[in-house]
Amino acid sequence: MSQACKIYLENLVGTKFGRLTVVAFEQGANSQIIAACNCECGTPRKVNLAHLKKGHTKSCGCLAREVRALNKITNCYFFKKAKN
Ligand SMILES: [Zn+2]
Repeated sequence: MSQACKIYLENLVGTKFGRLTVVAFEQGANSQIIAACNCECGTPRKVNLAHLKKGHTKSCGCLAREVRALNKITNCYFFKKAKN
């Protein structure tokens, strides 16, 4: 990792992506950069920085669980509405 890259990453510590706050960085396989994050729900999670920046990963998984639960409710609601 170059010095410029390290400085860039140090500046990203404390940045929030969705529910995840970056606490540290480490080098993963294939020179990927792994961000160690803390989720708002209190769960620590390590994610690929590329996924984090693209918005693919926004939480430890709790957000996806909540969205799925919500979709179930709304789908059910619209389904009933369409039938009537
Ligand atoms: Zn979470």
